[in-house]
Amino acid sequence: MFETLPTSAFAVMDWKANDIQPYFDDLVNRPLSTATIDQFLKDWTLLGELVTEAFSRLSVATTQNTADEESKKRYLSFIENLFPVLQMAEQKLKEKLLESKLEPKGFEIPLRNMRVEAEIFREANIPLTVEESKLRVNFDEIVGGLKLQWKGQTIPLTEILVEGQNPNRSEREQAWHAAHQTFIDARPAINELWNKFLDVRVQMAQNAGFESYIPYRWKSLGRFDYTPENCAQFHDAIEKVVVPAVERILKRKAKELGVEVLRPWDLNCDPTHNQTITFDTSGKPALKPYQTIEEMESRSAAIFKQVDPVLGEYFETMRREQLLDLGSRLNKANTGYCTTYQVVKRPFIFMNAVGIHDNVQTLLHEAGHAFHAFESVNQPYFQLRDYPIEFAEVASMSMELLAGRYLSSKFGGYYSDADAARAFVQHLEGMLTFWPYMAVVDSFQLWVYSNVDDARDPAKCDAKWLELWRRFIKGVDWSGLEEIEKTGWHRKLHIHQIPFYYVEYGLAQLGSAQVWAKSLNDPSGAVANYRKALALGGSVTLPELYATAGAKFAFDAETLGGVVSLIEKTITDLSAVN
Ligand SMILES: [Zn+2]
Repeated sequence: MFETLPTSAFAVMDWKANDIQPYFDDLVNRPLSTATIDQFLKDWTLLGELVTEAFSRLSVATTQNTADEESKKRYLSFIENLFPVLQMAEQKLKEKLLESKLEPKGFEIPLRNMRVEAEIFREANIPLTVEESKLRVNFDEIVGGLKLQWKGQTIPLTEILVEGQNPNRSEREQAWHAAHQTFIDARPAINELWNKFLDVRVQMAQNAGFESYIPYRWKSLGRFDYTPENCAQFHDAIEKVVVPAVERILKRKAKELGVEVLRPWDLNCDPTHNQTITFDTSGKPALKPYQTIEEMESRSAAIFKQVDPVLGEYFETMRREQLLDLGSRLNKANTGYCTTYQVVKRPFIFMNAVGIHDNVQTLLHEAGHAFHAFESVNQPYFQLRDYPIEFAEVASMSMELLAGRYLSSKFGGYYSDADAARAFVQHLEGMLTFWPYMAVVDSFQLWVYSNVDDARDPAKCDAKWLELWRRFIKGVDWSGLEEIEKTGWHRKLHIHQIPFYYVEYGLAQLGSAQVWAKSLNDPSGAVANYRKALALGGSVTLPELYATAGAKFAFDAETLGGVVSLIEKTITDLSAVN
């Protein structure tokens, strides 16, 4: 049967259910034994590769030209016609494999994942999943529709964000207030949705036989190697070692700005990221890394070659094979991502570069994901290429750090030594300010789903958020702004749309910081371990992936304190370059 399977994803892009069903039927009807299991998994992989690459290509096409109605139609038709068949068929194959009790060598992790999926699967939850995604869309509609009055004009919320860079402090303050007021105005609508979200989630957990949403969600997110208690330990560690470090940095910024203490609008104007520092207190002009996309590609290529010749060659392959779509243009979706084409075994990077430093950072990050694809795509079965997000982000965040030392033009990078140092300092500061904010978001959610009855009352959520905000966020004067301060949970979309999905970034950041720390004394050894870990794909546990990369999958103050000291010391050293 599989002799007739197409070899190119393009041939599969317009498949109908009838085209795909025979292959799944063939697989599901095969007798499974130790003698046949390898071929079964290989054929399943071929089919999986074709279908996922077809879907990736259709999805990429919709982002490359948002005005192309034809590609939108093909993409939606794939979702509507093929997805339901695929999901059912995949589920059958998983059940068949589990029932066979066969344990193919090297397949322990996918089997573990399948067992838990089967354990929590309930047919009664399918309509609730649909309901939850509708609520998610409603939330997007509320936030996407936020508008405000600015200098006599009505503008969408996103357009006010550039005012965060405005050197005029009182204009920054006005813009900050205008941006945050839009969320205050949207409170009743968001509160109404909030209760619907809670109802759906509690019900899903109950249907699956769980007393509370937390253990259910833990399993649905595939969190096998850490517990809510580990997260709480991580929050304590952040409070102990990161919060004071952030206070020291913000004190220095206040001094640069010539003010007694920073106010929130001295960091940025973005209501959804109000702890990130984007305002540059140095008073220097903004970094200008490159003029053309060609220049951006060639400078990045030079940096990757410095990090590792093989990684540099991967990037050259992407350039040669046109797997980079970096520049901004009309009708290009406003997003950035890296996806993988499984059949041809190549990644693809998409972004909207407009000549600012942030674009450089995005490309370094997405390239880390691309290198992960290059390294792991040779795992024999496609289930083994499915790595956990807690490690995927180590691949990308480590690349931002490993590449950080080569930003200077003397290595072929973008900047003078002084500007390279300034860019890297900004990045390190961003890492430090992220952890406490992440701790607020994650602690808040642990409270919500441990106290659902209280959490139905938005006033109680405000009180909890305020308590957590004051515990973790120090060094900025919020006095007189309590109404906005306590409602931050309204503005963090993850809390509403993808519950609990956030600590991953905090954990991965700690992993990547350790990879970077190792690289300072032994650059080639650290990169070799990094590549070895990437090549493992999803074939081992998270702690094993981290250990292979030379890091500890950790939550403790000692590990965190070690990297925080290093980050602070590096910031001090590099600031002296300027
Ligand atoms: Zn990423």
